[in-house]
Amino acid sequence: MKITILGGKNEIGGNKFLVEYKSTKIFLDFGMSFSQAGKFFSEFLQPRKCSSIPDLIELNLLPDLKGLYRNDYLKHMGRTEEKREFDALLITHAHADHAQYLHFLRNDIPIYCTKPTKIILQALEEIGANTFSDLITTLETFQFRINSKGGLSRVTRTSAEYVKERPFQLVENNKRYKIKDLEIEMLPVDHSLPGACAFIIYSDEGNLVYTGDLRFHGYNSNLTLEFVKKAKAAKPKWLLCEGTRIDQETSVSEAEVKEQISKFIKEAKGLAFVEHPIRDLDRVISVYNATKANKREFVVTLKLAYLIEALQEYCPFKLDDVKILIPKKSWGLICNEGADCKQVEQDYDKWELTYINRKNAITYTELQKNPRKYVVSMNMFEVNQLLDIKPKDAVWIKSSCEPFCDEMELDDERKRNWLAHFKIKEYFAHASGHASGKEIKAMIKEIAPQELIPIHTQKPEMFK
Ligand SMILES: [Zn+2]
Ligand SMILES: [Zn+2]
Repeated sequence: MKITILGGKNEIGGNKFLVEYKSTKIFLDFGMSFSQAGKFFSEFLQPRKCSSIPDLIELNLLPDLKGLYRNDYLKHMGRTEEKREFDALLITHAHADHAQYLHFLRNDIPIYCTKPTKIILQALEEIGANTFSDLITTLETFQFRINSKGGLSRVTRTSAEYVKERPFQLVENNKRYKIKDLEIEMLPVDHSLPGACAFIIYSDEGNLVYTGDLRFHGYNSNLTLEFVKKAKAAKPKWLLCEGTRIDQETSVSEAEVKEQISKFIKEAKGLAFVEHPIRDLDRVISVYNATKANKREFVVTLKLAYLIEALQEYCPFKLDDVKILIPKKSWGLICNEGADCKQVEQDYDKWELTYINRKNAITYTELQKNPRKYVVSMNMFEVNQLLDIKPKDAVWIKSSCEPFCDEMELDDERKRNWLAHFKIKEYFAHASGHASGKEIKAMIKEIAPQELIPIHTQKPEMFK
């Protein structure tokens, strides 16, 4: 078996591993490297759509391989159409550093992942504002169609014949799937978003275990423990092992985070805001339970409302159990009494319209009337809504990771200016999505692979 690391070595994320065995070629994850992308791109300096593949190859963000990339992009770049060379892509979870560059892949490569992973990818495609998010379907790019006036129009997603579903194979626990000369098995693990898994790749030559991202301190820690047992039983020849926090000894647990959030809410004499990653379902559950423990109601954003509905049985509460905050957008007609419904609707994207007339939809006026009744989910890019809410005696609970680059540092500083302006006190409560170094070392000892390959870490030397 040949394992080629095309991203995710000596860095956290950007995971892209090519596994070749006999005539079989599969990819494990196809993520974006934040550190490498951050060297060349920023919010206002984005890859050029028309030549994104060669540009990203040139900048070492994508591997230079034949038969891997979308023909619609290649044709436009003057490269001839290629034949598919790869048998499958296995995605461990839907974080961008593992799945984002799926956009550039051919739309006939089978994709193996869990159901929640597909749901989140779907959410990213539908509600994420990104030029590069053809994750579930692809829109044939750089095509023209003859419009009703007989002229040329660029093809958009409304022309169904140019939209193609990617071939997804949803993997289930305790089942093996044959991909030509290899067999694969998915093992669910605990991580900071639902649907995360590890994989075992079985071959006549020896087995490979790939951890994906994992931890032992979330609400699904039993899954990771179960994974370790199965990985050990597979007697792996190779272990691709994540080491994000290899240099850290301890972990704060998700249960502790819930307690801390609950305590901070209790201290609030007015509204409580919580800043948290919305795709981290464990955290969403923590905030929801901390809210209930304080006899308040949880108010979610439109995006979180979409996710709660999309995740169905994976989310332990229903959308009717929370309130949905409808923000003022463009013309801000939502709060104008007597405004024409059609006019109000024009302010919102299509996917947002399902929520604005729901019984549990509220606006800032309700938050002003009953501040002690609510806990509001809000991220730093929605903080301008404070101008409508004008909160008094509010608290802001930051429940996400600390900034790890200059850009995030600046965003955080800007947010703190908003909080200072409204005299909002800030608290912090967070647990990482990754196991501690101590836990990783114990896990490796237990699995006992013949060969250990450290990945997703800036300190591979600490694995010695
Ligand atoms: Zn990762
Ligand atoms: Zn992750």
